[in-house]
Amino acid sequence: MNKYIINRNKDNKGYNEVHITSCPFKPESYNQVELGYFSNAIEAVKHAKLLGYNADGCFYCCKEAHKG
Ligand SMILES: [Zn+2]
Repeated sequence: MNKYIINRNKDNKGYNEVHITSCPFKPESYNQVELGYFSNAIEAVKHAKLLGYNADGCFYCCKEAHKG
């Protein structure tokens, strides 16, 4: 299980990017919202969408959930 966070800010494509907490490309802490622990990025992105985010996985740490 990894702990996932989501960027409060949308990227230039309008997505809130989901990251694991060890990702070097995660947003500054004041721009992070904790999603919690998930077994994979697809589950984390699904959860973020339920919360109302336009979520997409980070290209580097959540590649299996990266679409944008
Ligand atoms: Zn990342």
